[in-house]
Amino acid sequence: MMYVKNVVVGCGLSGAVIAERIASQLNESVLIIDRRSHIGGNVYDYEDQSSGVMVHKYGPHVFHTNNKLVWDYLSQFTEWHYFMYRVKAIIDGNEVNIPFNLDSLYKVFPKSIAEKLEFKLIDEFGFNKKVPILDLNKSNDDDLKFLANFIYEKVFLGYTVKQWGVKPEDLDKSVSSRVPIYISKDNRYFQDKYQAIPLHGYTKMVEKAIEHPLISVKLNTDFLNIKKSIQYDRLFFTGPIDEFFDYEFGKLPYRSLDIKFVNYDKEYFQSCPQLNYPENYDFTRSVEYKYYLDQYTERTIVSFEYPRPFEIGINERYYPIPNDINQQLYRKYYDKATNLKNTYFLGRLADYKYYNMDQVVERALILFNTIEGENKCPD
Ligand code: FAD
Ligand code: UDP
Repeated sequence: MMYVKNVVVGCGLSGAVIAERIASQLNESVLIIDRRSHIGGNVYDYEDQSSGVMVHKYGPHVFHTNNKLVWDYLSQFTEWHYFMYRVKAIIDGNEVNIPFNLDSLYKVFPKSIAEKLEFKLIDEFGFNKKVPILDLNKSNDDDLKFLANFIYEKVFLGYTVKQWGVKPEDLDKSVSSRVPIYISKDNRYFQDKYQAIPLHGYTKMVEKAIEHPLISVKLNTDFLNIKKSIQYDRLFFTGPIDEFFDYEFGKLPYRSLDIKFVNYDKEYFQSCPQLNYPENYDFTRSVEYKYYLDQYTERTIVSFEYPRPFEIGINERYYPIPNDINQQLYRKYYDKATNLKNTYFLGRLADYKYYNMDQVVERALILFNTIEGENKCPD
């Protein structure tokens, strides 16, 4: 029987952050176990040999946060390439800014109609306001109703049915609210204070974070297969919570993606880093990674995302599906998890939450603070 003070299951951002904190702040040993062959979890990136461009194996990742603590924390492990994300969607054959904003209005409507709608939007909601599509849909004004229907049909419906297999209104409102209608001329995808890509990639950032003499990493190993042979004082589990409990209450549903990378023997494939295709094709978006780090290369590489239902053993868990039924099922696992001693659940899979990267880091930092508090001797 092997003994380690702390076991961390999963070497994604959640696992890496909690391991780093425990080793560097508590001076305790940590073993990180991951069943994949690499560190980084879903933020894993690598240089594509053919083009020389840094690509993201599990889909496009752009870091953005308003949380200075999270930004400062990660800045210990990486330099940044400052980068404000821009996304366009093909609507009626035109490349239109997403989030749909005042500029988008003029792209899709004749000037006189756009002007009228712009005035009404500002009058009803105010300038610089973000309005979720499911709220705009409720407007009583006939012109705004027309606009809401237009945006719902052209931007959200097709994309969401492809991505999730259901309509926007059949998911938690927080999903479509991630990309609200923005009554502004701000053409950025995110408005956060800090937006950037790690200059040498996410994998390098994670590698640096866990580069500590008290941290060891075991890859290609499923914790659930070896748990009987390890003893520990604390366990941090960042894998799927339903799997941890052997699916006792049933499986938590996820969406997956089939991500196809295509190399092109030309300098650029598209006009901006990300193009969304709400109405055309079977893929949701195409991403040209050379824009992310401003890499000037002769060839290029683009990923196309084809959404799929998640199936155990066939593909990966990419997105928890936020709705009431799934939340109730998760709650059962959560209640069971809170009764376990010295076992902590964190991360997108263990919390079953549609977290962004900064939320995952914040969650791990807060959890660490509570553990550090428990360890402190009373004065
Ligand atoms: P993960 O990265 O999933 O790590 C969990 C790890 O645990 C995995 O490596 C897995 O192999 C391992 N594991 C699980 N079970 C076991 C087991 N039994 N034994 C051993 N190992 C196990 N966020 C942003 O902020 N900006 C973005 O632009 C963005 N884009 C995204 C695009 C896509 C397509 C996806 C899917 C997510 C995106 N995210 C983005 C979210 C981001 O990926 C997550 O918030 C973050 O990576 C979650 O980290 P994690 O450590 O919780 O989970
Ligand atoms: N969405 C959409 N059309 C778009 C962009 C987003 O319908 O052009 C909806 C869709 O349901 C999507 C959700 O908004 O899943 C969240 O989009 P986001 O870009 O945040 O998704 P992620 O990057 O997490 O895949």
